Amino acid sequence: MKAVQYREIGAAPEVVTVPEPTPGPGQVLLRVAAAGVCHSDIALMSWSAESFPYQLPLTLGHEGAGTVAALGEGVTGVEEGDVVAVYGPQGCGRCVKCAQGKENYCLRAAELGILPPGLGAPGAMAEFLLVNDARFLVPLNGLDPVTTVPLTDAGLTPYHAIKRSLPKLVPGTTAVVIGAGGLGHVAIQLLRALTPSRVVAVDVSEEKLALARSVGAHETVLSDEGAADRVRRLTGGLGAEGVFDFAGVQPTVTLAGAVAAVEADVAIVGIGGGALPVGFNSTAFDVAVTAPYWGSRSELAEVFDLASAGAVEVRVETYGIDEAPVAYERLHAGKINGRAVILPNG
Ligand code: NAD
Ligand code: ZN
Ligand code: ZN
Repeated sequence: MKAVQYREIGAAPEVVTVPEPTPGPGQVLLRVAAAGVCHSDIALMSWSAESFPYQLPLTLGHEGAGTVAALGEGVTGVEEGDVVAVYGPQGCGRCVKCAQGKENYCLRAAELGILPPGLGAPGAMAEFLLVNDARFLVPLNGLDPVTTVPLTDAGLTPYHAIKRSLPKLVPGTTAVVIGAGGLGHVAIQLLRALTPSRVVAVDVSEEKLALARSVGAHETVLSDEGAADRVRRLTGGLGAEGVFDFAGVQPTVTLAGAVAAVEADVAIVGIGGGALPVGFNSTAFDVAVTAPYWGSRSELAEVFDLASAGAVEVRVETYGIDEAPVAYERLHAGKINGRAVILPNG
């Protein structure tokens, strides 16, 4: 079968032919309909050989959806032909975090060598994907795999970040979304669906700001040295109660801190390596700064419910598997509006 692999440090991803996997006991084979292209893949392909934590070659793709093609021995709960999405941040299933459904924060994943598909384990950018347990498959309930697959990360991750700030995002408040890309353009829709807050989107690109407005941002601000002042002016000088940074580079994290109101939540979601000092004279009183990772399985089901209700809709650009390297180039160049999705089987 064809697969999109990162094979050599610093090289571009390649489309290669690899053996088709067969499901062992407890495993499920998925015929992949769609696999999303995330900026985290660009980040991992920029790491040096010394800091690269996974084995090469690595089949990419940590957003996957498709049809159950075969069941390994003993698998129950899913059937051949079921249309499902893959829950990526897989855990041990037994520790206290996993027992709460928060497999993204599994306490034993590292020790047990459990890695998400596409982020260490073979990913979804291939004709077939082996899934280690049926519990990682979330039913799509009639949703289209192509437009829904990005919700497994670009929807789930902002949902997880936003959900816990909901008590602060009451009428009269402002939520700032920095970076209106794959995750950010879904975040804007989630904020509109779940809160009465005014939503301000910040990006370096006018096209992304236009996308932000078209998915519900009330205001848009170009990301430059004047951005913090403009966001503060939009909030009567008080700042925003929720700030969600989907770039996470030093300038945006600094901006996030500068526009955070008293008692605001700041979530650094982008993995650009920026850090925000917290303390007196650094941030406003009682600002909470977090760096959340992905989301829980129950939150993914909630995101799918929002999609079924028509509250979120991912803007997708589709590519055949042979075009996957082009999709990565375009993402790297900031040219994808919304999310690129690879269709490995057609
Ligand atoms: P993307 O490329 O689709 O979107 C990033 C957006 O940020 C783009 O619109 C870009 O123009 C904008 N941007 C870049 N620099 C900016 C700046 N200085 N000011 C304002 N906007 C700026 O990427 P994506 O796939 O949406 O991923 C976003 C980030 O989230 C990446 O860093 C990715 O690695 C990370 N991520 C984190 C998690 C997590 O669990 N924490 C999960 C998925 C992705
Ligand atoms: Zn991702
Ligand atoms: Zn666990």
